[in-house]
Amino acid sequence: MDNPSTDLFYKLINRNRSKPRTNSTGIDIEGELEFNPAIQRKAFAKYYEDLSIPKESKFDNSYLELCQIRQHLVEEVLYNQQTTIEPYKEDDVSKAIDNLNSGKSPDDNADSTHPVWDSVEQNLIEIRKASTKVRMLTGTYMVQADKHKFSQYTIDPTCLLCHREIEDILHVLTQCPVLCNERKEYFTPIKQLVTENSPPGTWELLFNNKLAVTQLVLDCTKYMKQLGFKEELILKLETLTRHFCFKLHYKRISLLKKLDG
Ligand SMILES: [Zn+2]
Repeated sequence: MDNPSTDLFYKLINRNRSKPRTNSTGIDIEGELEFNPAIQRKAFAKYYEDLSIPKESKFDNSYLELCQIRQHLVEEVLYNQQTTIEPYKEDDVSKAIDNLNSGKSPDDNADSTHPVWDSVEQNLIEIRKASTKVRMLTGTYMVQADKHKFSQYTIDPTCLLCHREIEDILHVLTQCPVLCNERKEYFTPIKQLVTENSPPGTWELLFNNKLAVTQLVLDCTKYMKQLGFKEELILKLETLTRHFCFKLHYKRISLLKKLDG
């Protein structure tokens, strides 16, 4: 019973689920066969405790990374929403259990989460895309203008890709000519969705400047009343804008890496 790891932990769980092929009353604890059930229980407790402690060499880093990304994302969305969280009370838990028994989820009718989170399919790449968008939305996505501020104005805020103007988030999303191919490709379906589902002239009226377009791309909820979109359309728009932000980010980062060389 040595060298515990995550892999071994799941192997043991699975082995315990299957039917035993051999029967033995003794287990090998540190080289000695032990038959006393009380000592065996203690040894197992110690062993499983050891298994649950992360080990540097055997720890599942990709899982940890996923957890950290999720935690970061949830924190950012909550921070952005300024949501006050009401702790669950015993009553709520009992009601939830009753609802579970009736086959209905307790939050079936709740509509409390931001669409940036709702439309995320549960896989890593979609979470990464949402995370990029949330960082852009909350001002934590690092561009040259931020580096300029954080470096006490020693780093040049000019865009490293086009060298034409200061690189802020508006420049990345709506102006930088170096990113125009990706912008065109992934912005067209956004514009199409809005124009096809709103009265004629709405697009020209609402999105006639780059700031409004940036606002739509980063947080479409601001326009939901004016557009009159229902949940399904909001989620579609959210997905399209998430891809848009990620594709521009990906292209930008790839080009910057090449420049870095
Ligand atoms: Zn540029």
